[in-house]
Amino acid sequence: MNFADLTSPAVGDLAADPPVLLLPLGAIEPHGPHAPLNTDLLISTGVCERVAARVPVRVLPPIPYGVTRMSAAFPGAVGVEEDVLHDLIVQVCASLAAQGFPHVVIVNNHFEPGQVAAVRRAVRTLAERGVRTGNLDLTRRAVAQRLTEEFRTGSCHAGRYETSLVLADRPDLVDTEAMASLPENHVDMPARMRAGAEDFPAMGMDRAYCGAPAEASAAEGESTFDTLAELLLETIAELVTEE
Ligand SMILES: [Zn+2]
Repeated sequence: MNFADLTSPAVGDLAADPPVLLLPLGAIEPHGPHAPLNTDLLISTGVCERVAARVPVRVLPPIPYGVTRMSAAFPGAVGVEEDVLHDLIVQVCASLAAQGFPHVVIVNNHFEPGQVAAVRRAVRTLAERGVRTGNLDLTRRAVAQRLTEEFRTGSCHAGRYETSLVLADRPDLVDTEAMASLPENHVDMPARMRAGAEDFPAMGMDRAYCGAPAEASAAEGESTFDTLAELLLETIAELVTEE
């Protein structure tokens, strides 16, 4: 299922009838005192793997680094500028298109505005160059409506929603003792950002989380992964049928 596990001749054969390729995106950034830095990437790769088990797509090596200005006050935020992320996405997708793989769907689970904007701009740049890419954009209202209640309230960083997804795939990476001790911290992140808050401390996230991580469960994570897989399958179908 992993594109980069193939040999060069095998990829050459594959280009004769190219599958959709999935490009997981995330960030290396603080997710509270309980969840790993690569939470967003684990979610992106988790949904890609689930979809790859159901339909004949291939999963590209992920782009782990993203825009992490909002969490820069905490240890572990390892970020890149918007232009770097944009250029990397564009060049990877253009390189694939040039060798016969025109269908790439970007799967991003890091929702910092700079990250979301860079991804959308990369899709536009590619379109200008004749390469159509899909984008599973969970910040679109119609998509967000299908996710959990906590996600819809805008408290969507390292809370019940994201922590449940990590518990479903990598429970070994969650400090469950720390998780259970965390009080709910409701923060409507999109609203606070519209009001001018530029980072987590300004939003009242003094421990780099919001929402209710103590309520997280692997069962909810599996259920959310099912929904994310459905959404990704729909994005794939849109890309290959709208030509
Ligand atoms: Zn996250």
